[in-house]
Amino acid sequence: MLSGYGRYFEKGFVRHKETHEHLAVYGQKPEVMVISCCDSRVTPEGIFHAGPGELFVLRNVANLVPPYEETEGQHGTSAALEYAVTALKVQHVVVMGHAKCGGVQAFRENANAPALKGDFIGRWIKLLEPAAIAMACMPVDRIDDPQLAMEYAGVRQSLKNLHTFSFVEDAVTKGELSLHGAWFDIGSGELRVMDPHTEKFETAVSGTPTE
Ligand SMILES: [Zn+2]
Repeated sequence: MLSGYGRYFEKGFVRHKETHEHLAVYGQKPEVMVISCCDSRVTPEGIFHAGPGELFVLRNVANLVPPYEETEGQHGTSAALEYAVTALKVQHVVVMGHAKCGGVQAFRENANAPALKGDFIGRWIKLLEPAAIAMACMPVDRIDDPQLAMEYAGVRQSLKNLHTFSFVEDAVTKGELSLHGAWFDIGSGELRVMDPHTEKFETAVSGTPTE
């Protein structure tokens, strides 16, 4: 870890030194929030080639957004969302699912699987239940891969849940905030983006590389 930090400091940090100094003095003003999975194979800053200060990233198990609720407890995901939308005033929130998601797989296989016997994961992953019901009632995708279908459904459900936060809904209504779904294929590097009208995921067309 420390040798990695050394390389980062000598190369990565120095390259962005002025950016860091500016960010330290004037604060952050990212335009995009990305909600992604904790999975070590899915790194938003790497996938979007983003530098410091560009992305406000939240990562949790299976890239889930819970619905708004007022219950007691520490709502970490909701707190990050609230800060991004009301304080930073991001213009975009991207929920990015991914292939081979262990959280989605655990939910699909069995909510009582050994991996879910702990105090937290099983309860958290139950946020996928409405997604599974929606998928069964009205399948958007005609695909034979149940894991992929559930990964898509989880992103769609999180996008729906985003609308249950009044500050999100207000910003969207005013045209100040856009919500997006995406999905990343670990093995091929393919990025798919959800069409907001059809809710289908299509291969993204990348911009022209400049370096
Ligand atoms: Zn995952």
